[in-house]
Amino acid sequence: MNMFERRNTQQIMVGKVPVGGGAPITVQSMTTTKTADVEGTLQQIYALAAAGCDIVRCTCNDQDAAEGLAQIVPRSPIPIIADIHHQYKMALAAMEAGVHGLRLNPGNIRKPEHIKAVASEARDRNLAIRIGVNGGSLDPSLYEKYGGLTAAAMVESAMHEIAYFKEVDFNLIKISVKASNVPLMVEAYRMLAEATDIPLHLGVTEAGPPPAGLIKATAGISTLLLEGIGDTIRYSLTADPVEEARAGRQLLEALGLRERKNVDLIACPSCGRAEIDVIDVANRALAAFEHKKLPLQIAVMGCVVNGPGEAREADLGIAAGNKRGHLFVKGRNVAVVPEDEMVEALVEWAEFINEHGTDAAIARADTKLAEREAARDRSHLMDEKGEDANHAAEKIVEIRKAVGN
Ligand code: SF4
Repeated sequence: MNMFERRNTQQIMVGKVPVGGGAPITVQSMTTTKTADVEGTLQQIYALAAAGCDIVRCTCNDQDAAEGLAQIVPRSPIPIIADIHHQYKMALAAMEAGVHGLRLNPGNIRKPEHIKAVASEARDRNLAIRIGVNGGSLDPSLYEKYGGLTAAAMVESAMHEIAYFKEVDFNLIKISVKASNVPLMVEAYRMLAEATDIPLHLGVTEAGPPPAGLIKATAGISTLLLEGIGDTIRYSLTADPVEEARAGRQLLEALGLRERKNVDLIACPSCGRAEIDVIDVANRALAAFEHKKLPLQIAVMGCVVNGPGEAREADLGIAAGNKRGHLFVKGRNVAVVPEDEMVEALVEWAEFINEHGTDAAIARADTKLAEREAARDRSHLMDEKGEDANHAAEKIVEIRKAVGN
């Protein structure tokens, strides 16, 4: 199903979830609760899993957090990674708590004996570690060596850490080289993909609040995915982490890298021909399908003149015309409903298609009648609006009259 050749990488396991080596690309996110708040954190983890998150990271910044992890891990529906900064002992505590993996920042755990102690323990427990290089917290000596933050500096930081891991024969590694600058992050991952076959975790760090954050993260992550680079992804948004998980999942589905689980709602941008408020109907349809888990493409089109033709690839769609909604399945008109029942009708037909398929939906419909009705409304609209939906010609006549020409 995916059209791009993926880079060959080693495969590691994070709990029961494979990463790399041809496994489906996974979606990650991070909880924003205090990890010591066991119930609050689990609630967020369940919401993340429902939104499409495959692996979740929780901070392990003190002993209370580590003790919280001991209670969270056995009850979590998805594998848990402990996020470690500065204190290598927290990595040891998190492993004791039973986490499925660790994230270490080589920029702030720098003593070789500490790094090797953690890697040896992870080796004995068969746990994966992500080397999470972050542009904002690069080892100061590399900053100096490269005269600032560069892609080469970030890659060297990761390779340096790998060398310590290899000394203790530890190989269950993932790497990320995140920066908030998109071109820099893309360059760093490309360099890394040339240098190693270790699986890569993609992300644009500190992307910020949506929509700008979504755009930055999507620009960086999808550029690399389309080059076949990347085994697991995270959107770092200043937002509810559920939005991160949803965005990650939607990106992978849009690129054909994961099986579709949810409705793919397509809608026309609307124009002067629109017979309905397309934005309102599309948003109501989006809300109606949000939790339905129907892997269908569904179109909301503003007019019956162009809508059914332009969305003929969709499994199901609706186009407005003459105060009515024209339902179509794979471009075939199947029913006509009153305008205020459009969303309900979409849901009913979508559920039928999900269960019985598009052919059965076409077979159950009186397509001849629906096509005749659609043709009637189409020609009514053409007569009424013609090619000049915005009445520009009439306005020009009026303008000329007004200015006396
Ligand atoms: S489907 Fe109709 S309303 Fe929507 S953009 Fe196309 S012409 Fe305009």
